[in-house]
Amino acid sequence: MPRIYLSAPDIGKLEQAYVNEAFATNWVAPVGPHIDAFEKEFSQVVGTKYAVALSSGTAALHLALRLAGVTAGDEVLCSSLTFVASAAPITYLGAHPVFIDSDEVSWNMDPALAIEVIEKKVRAGKIPKALVLVHLYGQSADIQPIKECCDKHGIKLIEDAAEALGATYKSGTPGSMGWAGIHSFNGNKIITTSGGGMLVTNDEKLATTARFLSTQARDPAPHYQHTTIGYNYRMSNICAGIGRGQLSELSKKVARRRSHFAAYQEAFKPFPGVTMQPEASWGKSTHWLTCLTIDPSKSAVSREDVRLALEKEDIESRPIWKPLHLQPIFAQAEYHGRGASDRMFEHGLCVPSGSGMSDSERNRVIDSMVKLFSK
Ligand SMILES: *Cc1c(COP(=O)(O)O)cnc(C)c1O
Repeated sequence: MPRIYLSAPDIGKLEQAYVNEAFATNWVAPVGPHIDAFEKEFSQVVGTKYAVALSSGTAALHLALRLAGVTAGDEVLCSSLTFVASAAPITYLGAHPVFIDSDEVSWNMDPALAIEVIEKKVRAGKIPKALVLVHLYGQSADIQPIKECCDKHGIKLIEDAAEALGATYKSGTPGSMGWAGIHSFNGNKIITTSGGGMLVTNDEKLATTARFLSTQARDPAPHYQHTTIGYNYRMSNICAGIGRGQLSELSKKVARRRSHFAAYQEAFKPFPGVTMQPEASWGKSTHWLTCLTIDPSKSAVSREDVRLALEKEDIESRPIWKPLHLQPIFAQAEYHGRGASDRMFEHGLCVPSGSGMSDSERNRVIDSMVKLFSK
């Protein structure tokens, strides 16, 4: 039986057609009509005025942080329970991440804790330049209270929605509510361009400057003149073609991932100690990955028992992200928490959730896990 992956690419026929069109018209690189169309279609889907197509989500975050004015020695607040790419660009600029723990209702940044830390820093006269708010595993964080506090103190809110395309927050979408938002089209994300990212914003100057910096900061002159240092961060027209095809199927992909979560939830109901990631009341999660925690004091097996048993059956599963405040590279970083993300990491597991995963593959995963839980 073939290996079942956590989240494999799910590519359709339209992607192929758009790529063929790029070849046929010789719009292979560097720019081209698919990029403009992808940006327009994407901004409509997420509900922002502007979208800038880039080579990765990490690049988008780097540009947003630089344009937020983050420089060496500054502090930037950031969710602790996330992938390293949420914080790495803070360090590219010589700034220091300050990590904030999760709440229990969404697994994302705890708003009460974030506000407490911000107010304390404001009183001490050291106002953070920006705050990176992550929307983990397809679920929006509670944006509003954090945004209000950031706005009050002139802190730029940058939303990392790399895992949350297609999710909702109240009447909006995660990634579109802050000063800037970023998305990722890496191979395992909800849609992929093979590799790529998007910066979204309602701030025209941010969009224009990001586009300028992403193409080596060329001043408008025929002779390649530069007054600032830029990057080679622009998306190619080929990748944008793949992205357009993928985006057209977004709602189907979200529905499929949600149906995986529902099937797992139903199957694991009888087992004490097995708890699904909760869905917060303020929006709809895409369940990019189905996540659950296994309490070994109540369950027959531990998280690691399950992960290793699945691996033996060629089924990929992974622990929840290791919180960044526990990463060796951030051992010296400031952290504020109450142990929530530590517990989620210790007991949490992500199970196969790709939109291309068949019912029979999903049943294979469920059967294996039910057997373990019934021990
Ligand atoms: C994938 C991911 C990123 C980085 O996106 P890339 O396109 O891979 O650079 C950033 N933050 C989070 C939370 C992610 O999951």
